[in-house]
Amino acid sequence: MWKTIRIDSKDGSAKSEAYTSAYQGLGGRSLIAQFLTDEVDASCDPLGSEAKIIFCTGMFAGSGLACTNRLSVGAKSPLTGGIKESNVGGNAATAFASHGIRSLIIENKPDDNDPMKFVVIHPDGAVTLEDASIYQGMNNYEFVDNMHQLYGNKTSVISIGVAGERLYKNSSLQVTEFGTNAPCRAAGRGGLGSVLGSKGIKGIVIQSAEGKSSLEYADKEKFLNIRNELNGMILESSKGNPFTLIGTASIVDGVGPAGIMPTKNFNGTISEKLDNIKSDKFMELVNRNGKNQHPCQAGCLVRCSNIINDREGNFLTGGFEYETIALCGPNCDIYDYEVLAKIDRMCDDIGLDTIETGATIAVCMEAGIIPWGDAEAAMGLYQQISDGTTLGNILGQGCEAAGKHLGAKRIPVCKGQAMAGYDPRGTKGTAFTYATSTMGADHTAGITLGPDDPSDTQEAIAASKTMQSVFAIADSMTCMMTMPVLGGHFDKVSELYNSLYGTAINPGDLFAAANRTLTLEKEFNTRAGWKPEDNIIPEFFRNEPLPSTGMTFDIPPEVLIREA
Ligand code: SF4
Repeated sequence: MWKTIRIDSKDGSAKSEAYTSAYQGLGGRSLIAQFLTDEVDASCDPLGSEAKIIFCTGMFAGSGLACTNRLSVGAKSPLTGGIKESNVGGNAATAFASHGIRSLIIENKPDDNDPMKFVVIHPDGAVTLEDASIYQGMNNYEFVDNMHQLYGNKTSVISIGVAGERLYKNSSLQVTEFGTNAPCRAAGRGGLGSVLGSKGIKGIVIQSAEGKSSLEYADKEKFLNIRNELNGMILESSKGNPFTLIGTASIVDGVGPAGIMPTKNFNGTISEKLDNIKSDKFMELVNRNGKNQHPCQAGCLVRCSNIINDREGNFLTGGFEYETIALCGPNCDIYDYEVLAKIDRMCDDIGLDTIETGATIAVCMEAGIIPWGDAEAAMGLYQQISDGTTLGNILGQGCEAAGKHLGAKRIPVCKGQAMAGYDPRGTKGTAFTYATSTMGADHTAGITLGPDDPSDTQEAIAASKTMQSVFAIADSMTCMMTMPVLGGHFDKVSELYNSLYGTAINPGDLFAAANRTLTLEKEFNTRAGWKPEDNIIPEFFRNEPLPSTGMTFDIPPEVLIREA
């Protein structure tokens, strides 16, 4: 039943292709690695006509297994120069699955003066490209409002704001969220919004299919039995789970006092203002007419998302997460949830990766462009990025480019991408992932932080490698929030897979498939020009001890290089 939609952004054609049997059983990240390997010259200009942007649903999309209607967006990243898979929740993958669309590929490039277009997938499955010239220059919330007026309030929308239109390397794609239908879920990392912008595509509008989708099962009864058992376990595990009870903002309570949360451009000092952003303060914000335990997609049983309202009770933002809080907050010496929620809304609206942009603003503060902790001035810089001022255009190119332009000495990036909300000196395994993963400094490529995060070098390296494989599995089939359950029951997951696809895989095969994905990604990056000596953790993490522990990052450079 699965199919691929292929869109030529130059001639405006769209065609549907039957799904090749060679790709059967792949999904999400594993499918993106395969498509990019097979179809894209890794040495291409990521914003040129040879580049492609690919949207793939996970291998269990549409099946009713909790949290598996995730969407992977993939392309050659203009930020890292390597392969990029950015994984996002929201309601787009559910709508894709209703049409039996496993992948949608946008290729080629329009002429420079062509007006932008948007893609519409209609209830009968027809795919059209529509003139978007009147929406050019619009940010995400206004664009989505327009699409909802045209196609109905519940229509799923993937879109870019002006950041993507301006081809900024810190630009995100935004996806509408279940329930609120607001564009508050971000495929943030890697600057992939600019790749959609380079195709002249403002957004993708997906109206759900008419009638019920007919997923084909090799053994439906067995599938439903295992699925229901796993869903029961996921639901049970959500009871008492801080990600459910509070959200990912709960991470602040652990990493903040430990000095692992980035503060003042990763200088690691623990501020006396930390209490202002702990969980109790987050819940005060949420409880002001808002809500947590919100599912970002239908069928999610973990429900780590939230709805944040302003003082007047109007919707302000959703999907307000730890990474945004850490990078746009303490990393800029800002400890005020009122401000941070507004920054989250601004970033979602403009279409900015909050991690990359927060890290960039902190570098600006260290360079003396604006004072530390000056929230108004920080919001002014976000606005300059939206307005496309001279400085805004520089900041839109990401933390490394902006830092170099400003002459900054401390630029917290690996492979050109800003580090997420975990200081390398406080979580050695995650730092190893930052330096060596196929995705650059991306915690979702293999975070090791947790109760058992090892400080021993060999154990940290081993933990990073395991987690890089585990996340490659997760990104191909589910939201990583389910992995504490599914990761402990790979026997049932492989049985579930077999009852869907008629295969005979075992848990070891899941890891083998993940490692094949990592190998394909690595090979792509090598062809794209990544070199072993690019596996670097910036020098200041080796020279400046983390104030809370006195630790520096001490995995020798030659060990990182050996992992390439
Ligand atoms: S656990 Fe959170 S991120 Fe994952 S699908 Fe549910 S709401 Fe979305």
